[in-house]
Amino acid sequence: MSEEASAVSMLRPAKRAPLPQAPRVFDAQDVVPAPSSLRERLEQMRARYHGVHATTLLEAAIFDEFPGRVATVSSFGSESVVLLHLISQIDPTVPVIFLNTGKLFGETLRYRDRIQAKLGLTDLRSVGPHPGDERVLDPDGTLWSRDPDACCNFRKVLPLRRSLAGFDAEITGRKRFQTVARSSMGPIELNGSRFVINPLHGWSLADLVAHIEKYDLPRHPLVADGFLSIGCMPCTQRVKTGEDYRSGRWAGSDKDECGIHENVEGDGI
Ligand code: SF4
Repeated sequence: MSEEASAVSMLRPAKRAPLPQAPRVFDAQDVVPAPSSLRERLEQMRARYHGVHATTLLEAAIFDEFPGRVATVSSFGSESVVLLHLISQIDPTVPVIFLNTGKLFGETLRYRDRIQAKLGLTDLRSVGPHPGDERVLDPDGTLWSRDPDACCNFRKVLPLRRSLAGFDAEITGRKRFQTVARSSMGPIELNGSRFVINPLHGWSLADLVAHIEKYDLPRHPLVADGFLSIGCMPCTQRVKTGEDYRSGRWAGSDKDECGIHENVEGDGI
């Protein structure tokens, strides 16, 4: 085992906590159902933008549907640059929210800075957990090993909820191929009263790689090292050849989402 792999493996618990029997932390959080007016608008938008290219959907969301009221959320992970590149070509001032959990790889932070400079993103917001939450819930920084749902909740879900409070819509880079839960995802959804725009929902991994190569976009440096889906350091492993794309995330547990996309309604068009 290489020195780096050894260092990463030492950060993992010898034994995972038992699978949760109770609802996950974020399952229990109350998301107020959308009023009927927003549901009607959802259906109208789905009909209006049925089958359009990702760029067309992004232009519509940024300029027509939610001018000044839409932000994107990016992990600056393995293929995040595709969505950020598309957005930067349309309007580089769209707010980009980056969840700096305090547990990320240093490579991710440097990659974020590199991509911001290359694409000219003018409104990158790095948000983190509330210091009070961290002090009370995770004073020694090991909550991820005992209760990853609770860790994701205060490091990701709550900060994102605070940072999106002023927006009517968020643009995500989620793709159908990533997880079973995402396999029926559509391009436009509702999460409570906030619209969720998924311009890349139907893109394959090959489509993403082709876009990256066509525009000569920088890859996250850890991709070349075998990390296909990149999140926090303690909860991300390399993916072996032939293994599932996200098998390196929370490996050995049934967890495959951090919770920031829970409660999204609808299966799209
Ligand atoms: S991915 Fe792991 S370290 Fe990051 S917030 Fe979730 S449980 Fe915590």
